[in-house]
Amino acid sequence: MSNTTLHGSGGYVIANITEEQVKKADLGVGKLFLAPIGKLEEQKITKHYCKICEEEFDSPPKIHLEENNREEVADNLVLVERGQYNCQKCNSTIGEYRVFEKQDETGEVGNARPNDLTSDSN
Ligand SMILES: [Zn+2]
Repeated sequence: MSNTTLHGSGGYVIANITEEQVKKADLGVGKLFLAPIGKLEEQKITKHYCKICEEEFDSPPKIHLEENNREEVADNLVLVERGQYNCQKCNSTIGEYRVFEKQDETGEVGNARPNDLTSDSN
């Protein structure tokens, strides 16, 4: 997938994302959203549009890490990292990202992989 438009609250970004990420971004309302994808690497983003500047920039937005505490937000769901994509020019928020981790990836089937619970990834 190349040059996919992903919408955030303060604009959009254009990024090269995988088919898997397209599925995550598609909330069934006819456009794709930035937030459900998780964190996008800066190299994957080619442009960003800022509603405040009313301008499209030929560069990725600034990626601002808000916090990376591990916080359990629901049973079997941990918020690993939270941050924002900010406009290069005025610094307003284009969109947000959240990275979640399921404590038990295979919770719905019978073959749990306990290494997810014990290994401290990243
Ligand atoms: Zn701006």
